[in-house]
Amino acid sequence: MSTAQEPAIGIDLGTTYSVVSRLDDNGQPITMVNAEGDRVTPSVVLFDGQDVVVGKEALKAMATEADSVAECSKRDMGHRVFHKVFGGKQYPPEVIEAWILNKLRADTAQQIGPFTKVVITVPAYFDEVRRKATQDAGYMAGFEVLDIINEPTAAAVAFGFQQGYLNAEGSSDEPKRILVYDLGGGTFDVTVMEIRGSEFVALATDGDVRLGGYDFDQRLVDLVAESFIREHYVDPREDPSAAGKLWRECEDVKRTLSARNKASAACDYRGFASRVEITKKQFEEATQDLLDRTRFTTSQTLKAAGLDWADLDRVLLVGGSTRMPMVHAMLRELSGKDPDASVAADEAVAHGAALHAGLQLAKQQGLKGTFAIKNVNSHSLGVVGTDPQTKRRRNGILIPRNTSLPVTGKRVFKTSKANQKSILVQIVEGESPSADDCTQIGKCTVRDMPPNLAAQSPVAVLFHYEPNGRLKVRVTVPGTDRQVDSEIVRENSLSKEHLDGWRRYVCQAEPTDYR
Ligand code: ADP
Ligand code: MG
Repeated sequence: MSTAQEPAIGIDLGTTYSVVSRLDDNGQPITMVNAEGDRVTPSVVLFDGQDVVVGKEALKAMATEADSVAECSKRDMGHRVFHKVFGGKQYPPEVIEAWILNKLRADTAQQIGPFTKVVITVPAYFDEVRRKATQDAGYMAGFEVLDIINEPTAAAVAFGFQQGYLNAEGSSDEPKRILVYDLGGGTFDVTVMEIRGSEFVALATDGDVRLGGYDFDQRLVDLVAESFIREHYVDPREDPSAAGKLWRECEDVKRTLSARNKASAACDYRGFASRVEITKKQFEEATQDLLDRTRFTTSQTLKAAGLDWADLDRVLLVGGSTRMPMVHAMLRELSGKDPDASVAADEAVAHGAALHAGLQLAKQQGLKGTFAIKNVNSHSLGVVGTDPQTKRRRNGILIPRNTSLPVTGKRVFKTSKANQKSILVQIVEGESPSADDCTQIGKCTVRDMPPNLAAQSPVAVLFHYEPNGRLKVRVTVPGTDRQVDSEIVRENSLSKEHLDGWRRYVCQAEPTDYR
């Protein structure tokens, strides 16, 4: 098959729901339906003996066999293993994500035939380790990941497409500034973007990888459980399946409260049953602090972009949780503008990813793209050094956050002895001056140094962020033409051998368990 016929596929791999989109023959993004006939697939995995079940059925199993269900695995990305144990085994979170992607691939292939190239989305606030884990998940699901794209950027691209900015006639010379507020199921992302013609430029980004609709659900679970305890003196949260059932009930109540002023949640446990009524006001009071956190981060991001509310053309709402009326009210009050819900909250991110896939495929064919994306890094990059006084590990920031990408930072080290063979550099991402409070990306050992270097020879280490936020390390020795690409030895990352093993297992080419 030539590249010309290759479908442009974008996958929004969400914490709670995932969506697949592809460009139709006219280059228009459309949402694919899954095998169940739904446009969104719950990002939930059930381990049923030898079987791995993904999606709606796995979500249902939360009420009966919660111990065998992996939900919100995206939240654990960057960790070595997912926090729950299944059948005595702990899986890396990116392997669980790979199973989700594998279902999306199989369901889509049923309709359009086999395909391998995709773009997968990540929260803008994902650090480098989580970005790599996402690409690895795609690989293990049998994909060739063309690129990863930041979710708010993808939403902005979908918005731009919808507004006609992506074709020559529609693209305006007047730059448009938008703030993308994305409150999903498990993550919160806010990004300030400038659309200059068909160029999408991120100015600043911030967020929280552990704040989303799921946390609002948990507050409802607590409200209902507390009322249940007052009545029956037992706590339904103590049993995983009872808690899982109550969570599903409360998520439904939350959706109802986006449309009505009150709703009731049924709860039964150990032979007791209750129906607890919850008003919208009670719900909003119980979650005020969560909303306030998004409000604070939103203001900070605007400030980091060097803008005021008056400088913004639009506040774009993305993510299922922005359907909560309190989000609209808060943003209206904060910005003095009516937030814009014109893009499909659940589908815009996938659509933007499909448009980006189309751009990548065109580029592979040597064609010119119809739009361009410029990102910033969401976390500062630092090199670990030791404080001479306290002997504490310190984060020496080399590339501050919100720097326009791609960017290269340079640090010159000196060899300590003559004919030194290697140099060890530890890399972190984060804002804290203490290296231990940052995300450990890994150690980078520079080998292959030129022979016979005198002691105190300068060695320049170049840290290069690619446009998608992935990091490459390169070493040059001033005065020589020596240039070495250096492999980063990562803290919590799967080796190539493991990735290939999991790829065969997840894609079912090899029926036996792999680890
Ligand atoms: P993610 O990409 O993080 O998986 P989504 O953008 O798909 O998240 O949004 C899913 C979240 O949106 C879930 O927490 C879900 O409960 C919430 N949600 C969806 N519809 C509504 C609604 N009508 N009212 C309130 N919350 C909603
Ligand atoms: Mg999302």
